[in-house]
Amino acid sequence: MIKQEIMDILHRARINGWLMEPEAKRVFALAGLPVPRFAWAADLQESLQHAARIGYPLVAKVVSPAVVHKSEVDGVGVGIADESQLRTFYERVSGLPGFAGLLIEEMAAGMELIAGAKLDFQFGLIILLGIGGISVEVYDDVAIRMAPICPADVEMMLRELKGEKLLSGFRGKPAVNREKLVRVLVDFAALVQEMVPYIASIDLNPLLCSGEECIIADARIMLGEVFVRTGGPDTSFVR
Ligand code: ADP
Ligand code: MG
Repeated sequence: MIKQEIMDILHRARINGWLMEPEAKRVFALAGLPVPRFAWAADLQESLQHAARIGYPLVAKVVSPAVVHKSEVDGVGVGIADESQLRTFYERVSGLPGFAGLLIEEMAAGMELIAGAKLDFQFGLIILLGIGGISVEVYDDVAIRMAPICPADVEMMLRELKGEKLLSGFRGKPAVNREKLVRVLVDFAALVQEMVPYIASIDLNPLLCSGEECIIADARIMLGEVFVRTGGPDTSFVR
């Protein structure tokens, strides 16, 4: 059963058709999936307050229903070192269309992976896992499975990736914590299965994986067309 708090967030987001990053991260946090410590600040004052609590250096991002790809509008500040840098960032992005505040979050380190879910009208819920960054753009290095998935499925998906070597400590880089990675994917897929009547697709890009943890550093949830229009579940997918 989906928690009421998650359903409330999904309903509120119908007006935009998708969940902005702080909304998506709240959903994942409520479901027990790993996200960075984050806060959604409405104005500069709140941004500075949350930043003081979370600690510098940090990541700040524009929140706007009109901005789906934040980097494309220079809306992501990674490694913001102090108050003055945060002020400068705020001044710059607060003029962007639809500006609805800043996401302030802790920095996460690790290798960039991508994960996702999408509803295919023939196959139903599809789960995707791949190597992120340049690898996904150039080599399209992803593995795909139909839900549900178990830990052994994720292991097989990882073995299918051309860049699998990168996960086990390549050229002096630390190995990724595979157990945590598998856990995140299995938990993600289980949550998404419950969300099938309400969503169209979900992108986690990147999932940052280090030797210690595997954390969702960016998330976008696109709502299903029937749910957006009617507020009720779309029951056309076989589950
Ligand atoms: P976009 O909407 O452009 O995809 P992202 O939220 O993915 O924006 O941020 C762009 C990039 O910034 C990410 O691909 C990642 O490299 C980096 N990044 C984002 N969040 C964090 C974080 N919490 N810690 C470290 N790096 C991050
Ligand atoms: Mg991203």
